[in-house]
Amino acid sequence: MRCRKCDERAVINMRHHKLALCAEHYGEWFIAQTERAIEKYKMFSRDERILVAVSGGKDSLSLWDVLLRLGYQADGLYIGLGINDPEPYSDLSLEKTRQFVAHGEWRVANRADNDSAPLAPRPSPILHVVDIPATYGKSIPEISRAKARGQGKPCSACGLTKRYVMNRLALEKGYTVLATGHNLDDEVAVLFQNTLRWQTGYLARQAPVLPASREGLTRKVKPLCRFYERETAAYALARGIDYIYAECPHAVGNLTNFYKTLLNQLETESPGSKLAFYLEFLRARGQGVFDKYNRADELHACETCGQPTSAPGRCAFCRMWDVSAIVR
Ligand code: SF4
Ligand SMILES: [Zn+2]
Ligand SMILES: [Zn+2]
Repeated sequence: MRCRKCDERAVINMRHHKLALCAEHYGEWFIAQTERAIEKYKMFSRDERILVAVSGGKDSLSLWDVLLRLGYQADGLYIGLGINDPEPYSDLSLEKTRQFVAHGEWRVANRADNDSAPLAPRPSPILHVVDIPATYGKSIPEISRAKARGQGKPCSACGLTKRYVMNRLALEKGYTVLATGHNLDDEVAVLFQNTLRWQTGYLARQAPVLPASREGLTRKVKPLCRFYERETAAYALARGIDYIYAECPHAVGNLTNFYKTLLNQLETESPGSKLAFYLEFLRARGQGVFDKYNRADELHACETCGQPTSAPGRCAFCRMWDVSAIVR
């Protein structure tokens, strides 16, 4: 199969877009599509400082790469979860993230418009690293076992910790936006799960942009939410981004992966189904179908750390980690 733009060998064929592209034109298309999503959903402006949550995987590193090539002020946050058994998953994912920063491929701006234009030098982004065992005394599996959360899996403790650390670091370091690398497959699996159970409150809050509705919370954005997982993987490969292929060992057999498998079968039979399901949901949401379910919780400052919480007294993070004093 040949690239539609230049007749080189195509590296990807996107049946739902009826579009096959070579590595170079695919990279340009992916960047242009991301910028369109940023503008369409009013995610952020060029003056804002963006914090990208990076895990060393294809989605988050591709997102960081695209934002840097587009010239946004995008720094990274890596959260070390201490998941190194049976394989050194956390250590390896930090290594891939550090390699990405050192490698510097993202210094090359998108050349689509004018190949001969001089490229503006890009300063190195900052990589913030928060190591959970070093900071709080236990790895995520250890705190999960200690608290018996998550019905055997540490995902509940992990999700709570990541959300807390991301929001807190963004606020403390002056970032107004927190960007995550969720792709279409991630979003559709969650949408499917919430729709199956008609969890209207969750549906009301699932969006490419969650505004910082209150002081003490950052705006959260998902610029890759319209790309299939294979498209973000193809972008990483086309750009030579070395990412961690292995999934977190605790993701094996979880419900989200089961829904992803089901939805992949649907997509094979009916290409474009996932994208249509998600975009039609966003259209309905945009028309206010779920507005009445979007109830804002009463928030106050956690008496230990000062972060916003709906729980009385200490927030869920401080209670789980038995934090008695956090230096503000
Ligand atoms: S699979 Fe669970 S434990 Fe692993 S990174 Fe995801 S939420 Fe955390
Ligand atoms: Zn081409
Ligand atoms: Zn707290």
